Amino acid sequence: MNLRRIANRALDVLLPPQCPLCNGVVDAHGVLCGGCWQQIDFLGDPRCSACGLPFEFDIDPTEAVLCGACVREHPPFTRARAVMVYGNVSRKLVLAFKHGDRTDTAPALGRWLARAGRALIEDADVIAPVPLHWTRLFARRYNQAALLAGVVGEVSAVAVVQDMLVRRKRTPPQGRMGWAKRRRNVAGAFKVNPARRDALLGKRVLLIDDVLTTGATVAGCAKVLLRGGAAAVDVLTLARVVRAAV
Ligand SMILES: [Zn+2]
Ligand SMILES: [Zn+2]
Repeated sequence: MNLRRIANRALDVLLPPQCPLCNGVVDAHGVLCGGCWQQIDFLGDPRCSACGLPFEFDIDPTEAVLCGACVREHPPFTRARAVMVYGNVSRKLVLAFKHGDRTDTAPALGRWLARAGRALIEDADVIAPVPLHWTRLFARRYNQAALLAGVVGEVSAVAVVQDMLVRRKRTPPQGRMGWAKRRRNVAGAFKVNPARRDALLGKRVLLIDDVLTTGATVAGCAKVLLRGGAAAVDVLTLARVVRAAV
């Protein structure tokens, strides 16, 4: 822990908790104020039963319906679910959490994840985060996916294996890359930690990340987990990019 953090901790005791988006005063650390909460676009049914893309038309909730992209090629994971649409407001929230040292939001965000992913958690044997390369971990000091995985594990009592996956190579930031490029970028980027092979065998894994953009990262992780002996992989993220259907 560095000095700034210790100073922040000390300030926490003195200052009232602030909304991570607008810095307005709120009741508890890490929660949004009412105004910001209302601007978040929460995700729910109806949606693609595989990738979780929201549908604009109603479907029979007992039926599993796939979006066009998942019909063309089913992702390696079974289901991906997200708390909210990755839009202007949720983006600020995720970035504050990821780069802005607002780790005090982790418990609240983790509880959102646990609620949105209830069905996935019920089926999960083990929770694992998407790993950061150690050089990034060093620069950022924490892996946001690992923090979220920890909270989901705590509230759901499902075992968390933080180092189930490791990054083999440092992948360039995927910011503006398209799907095909992203897929090449993550190919071979992850592997199952040899020390965790036994913990993975025959297990249903719930993979946690902060944002699902094209799905290339979680698809890459899911493939590696399945090859390593996982029975199935579900994916739970805070936010998800939603583009107009193609
Ligand atoms: Zn606010
Ligand atoms: Zn889909």
